Amino acid sequence: MGGNVERLIYDIILSRPEDYLSIYQSCCNHNCLKCHSWYFSQYAKGKWMKPEDILKEVLKYRETVTVWEPRSRATMWHASDLCAHCGVCKVSESKGVFCPNKLKPEQILFSPQGYGPARNIVSFTGGDLYCQPSFYVKVFKLIKREAPEMWIHIETNGYGLVRENIELYYSAGLDSIWLDMKAFDAKTYRELCGTTNEWILEIPSIAKESGIVLEVVLIYIPGLVELDQIEKFAKLLSEADKEIPITILAFFPEYLLSGFRKPTYSEMVNAYKVMEKHGLKKVRLGNVGVFCKTMENIEKLVKEIGREAVGL
Ligand code: SF4
Ligand code: SF4
Repeated sequence: MGGNVERLIYDIILSRPEDYLSIYQSCCNHNCLKCHSWYFSQYAKGKWMKPEDILKEVLKYRETVTVWEPRSRATMWHASDLCAHCGVCKVSESKGVFCPNKLKPEQILFSPQGYGPARNIVSFTGGDLYCQPSFYVKVFKLIKREAPEMWIHIETNGYGLVRENIELYYSAGLDSIWLDMKAFDAKTYRELCGTTNEWILEIPSIAKESGIVLEVVLIYIPGLVELDQIEKFAKLLSEADKEIPITILAFFPEYLLSGFRKPTYSEMVNAYKVMEKHGLKKVRLGNVGVFCKTMENIEKLVKEIGREAVGL
């Protein structure tokens, strides 16, 4: 693993609603029909950066951090219990209707993606090449050496995370994984992403053994990934650990799935309830605006499943 290694980076930004520094990478080992980043995940676009260049960005971001999280909260999932990203406290003396009332206005910053805090997490997101560890091992070690108070998070489809790579990344300093599991059934997964998901289904239990913090993201796609597959995930995840933070996102049409519809309010609530039925404790619905079009709908959802379960 000697020599120079670089990664093509599309953008680096304090992202919402995650409230951490997101490093958007170009090129990916998947070609998902639903990809929202297709214009840089399927095309080489951006600037080649060395681990040292990434470190400079992390050190610059560290100066702006307003919330210091413990390692167990080095996830996207935990952002939403701090702030609902409404910006009300920055433009008036009051707080927004769904504000969790945990932060002071001076902890809220504006970024191109909106209002929220800046948490001490750096996340490698966008196109996924974790099947090629050389760059990541170098950059993780460098960040841990120069900025040990910053948690290192990756957003991944899991394809590159065979046991050997998970162990390699953990020893290089990786703190947490956002695992986008996409579909349970092998046939649907192949249709949706073009690959197998055989070993991806094993990651929740391997990550737990390894000591890496894990969060899981699922997506409800009517006609492709519906309640039956969500229930299979519920069973798998509850057997691995009932405390895994899980976000179920509502699909919205994009890229090669532009002809598919969005899920309804009841489909999303049923997906939440099936997780609850399997004893999973930290489940949240995301992309709420997709299935709740009015403030009344959001209030109804909060009443039905609780504020904690609604990602705003
Ligand atoms: S893994 Fe993510 S970035 Fe890659 S093609 Fe699929 S959705 Fe796009
Ligand atoms: S802390 Fe967040 S949710 Fe609360 S008012 Fe400010 S921006 Fe809105």
